[in-house]
Amino acid sequence: MIPIHPRIDRLQPYVAGIRPEEGTAAIKLNQNESPYPASPKVAETFGRLRPELLLREYPDSGCLRIREALSALHGIPVSMLLCGNGSSELITLLYKSFLCDGDTVAIPDPTFGLYATVAEMAGIRVDIVPTGEDFRIDTMKLLESDPQAVIIANPNAPTGLCLQAAQIERLLQSYRGLVVVDEAYVDFAPEGTSVLGLVDRYDNLLVLRTFSKAYALSGSRIGFAAGNERLIQAMGKGRETFSVNAVAQLAAEAALSDQDYMRTTVERIAMTRQQFCESLERTGWNVLPSVTNFVLASPPVGGRTAKELYERLLSEHIYVRYFDTPRLADKLRISIGTDVEMQVVLDSLARAD
Ligand SMILES: *Cc1c(COP(=O)(O)O)cnc(C)c1O
Repeated sequence: MIPIHPRIDRLQPYVAGIRPEEGTAAIKLNQNESPYPASPKVAETFGRLRPELLLREYPDSGCLRIREALSALHGIPVSMLLCGNGSSELITLLYKSFLCDGDTVAIPDPTFGLYATVAEMAGIRVDIVPTGEDFRIDTMKLLESDPQAVIIANPNAPTGLCLQAAQIERLLQSYRGLVVVDEAYVDFAPEGTSVLGLVDRYDNLLVLRTFSKAYALSGSRIGFAAGNERLIQAMGKGRETFSVNAVAQLAAEAALSDQDYMRTTVERIAMTRQQFCESLERTGWNVLPSVTNFVLASPPVGGRTAKELYERLLSEHIYVRYFDTPRLADKLRISIGTDVEMQVVLDSLARAD
């Protein structure tokens, strides 16, 4: 028998939101995807493509056109940007590049499950630091185990809450280890949330972004990291050369060129979220004040449990997320879809009483 590497053998794999069976009509609100298509410029670009050309050649391994566009948009030099196969690849890469066997990474709880899974695979210890009663992250508490790195999703998932950039800057002023800020949902958050503008002032700051959420390109798998040149170069060395495929690069470039469209969909989603939250609260739900494209909410005490409601929604082909962990077992995480989709959810929940 071939021995399985012990780290893989005992690994609890990351569980992504389940996908409806091909061809079934479902309302999919379990992976925080956009309910709206990417900018029409993406479809226009694809319409002009000659697949035989696009697919015959290797893509640009350095993703230079996208980095140039990102550089112009965010005012960050190209040399401080690196693209990856989704921010997921960049998370794997940052462990490989900056942490050694037995080093510790501190993460809040709850947060994005992938951080712990990938760390365990890389032989890195994970210090799980509970958030407060109100699920807010105390950044200084993350430092108590003297970790080599901390990762903060800001806004955080699955809570939907955010820290202000100034709170993260205070952490940067007192900590010399690696600070990773995953800004997957930052386009939905208020101004003053992002720390992208701080990457040239702190050489231990790495910011992750993705095209999966606000740009509606989950399927194309592309994200980017911004940080000090030394960090970016190190991650670039360890990266699989062609990890960002040609189709993803074209899609991202087109989506990036249409900021108006992105902003419009983000605003529409925020409006739907606000109405959805108000409706839930009117029926006795407790909803965390989300600044993202999803909400974390507990059903009224004494009625059906979160788990029962999860299963009931699923039986009606409505997919939301249920996490069977101590802090989250009484809650559902529901991505914000279209107004019509959210009304279907509310109707189904009303019938469940
Ligand atoms: C969705 C999400 C991502 C994006 O991952 P990709 O690999 O870029 O699709 C990253 N971080 C968090 C916290 C997320 O929720």
